[in-house]
Amino acid sequence: MATNRTFTMLKPDAVEKGHVGAIIEKITASGFRIVAMKLTQMTAADAQEFYAIHKERPFFPELVEYMTRGPIVAAILEKDNAVEDFRTLIGATNPADAAEGTIRKLYAASIGENAVHGSDSDDNAAIEGAFHFAGREMF
Ligand code: UDP
Ligand code: MG
Repeated sequence: MATNRTFTMLKPDAVEKGHVGAIIEKITASGFRIVAMKLTQMTAADAQEFYAIHKERPFFPELVEYMTRGPIVAAILEKDNAVEDFRTLIGATNPADAAEGTIRKLYAASIGENAVHGSDSDDNAAIEGAFHFAGREMF
């Protein structure tokens, strides 16, 4: 079911480098409404569960280490066609391949440390949003 919502994380590298304000400005200027948002930090168990689909990949241990090393900004965003439009706004996983003006082109350092997460389907957006937020934190 299409909900017009997606889930994002501004990853530890984006927080460390002070890019939170600029990235949120770009997201809201692109027409996304903030449904939920918080600064939080994932435990190793959280990151292993969140990224379980990648657990057999060679980069998995590095991904868990990276995603748990500091705070993230987790958020649920709303817009028509949210999942697809947000993936367009963030750009390709590897910033070297990301289109000009995308968040990853502007702020990501590498394919691993790529500044921002965006859900890849409506189903995953709902699962990922519920992983981070209780119903009373969603507006
Ligand atoms: N990642 C990595 N190396 C890779 C591919 C992915 O370190 O070769 C990391 C990167 O942080 C990426 C995350 O794992 O954002 C999840 O990978 P996915 O393929 O789902 O990319 P995304 O959906 O984030 O664009
Ligand atoms: Mg993905």
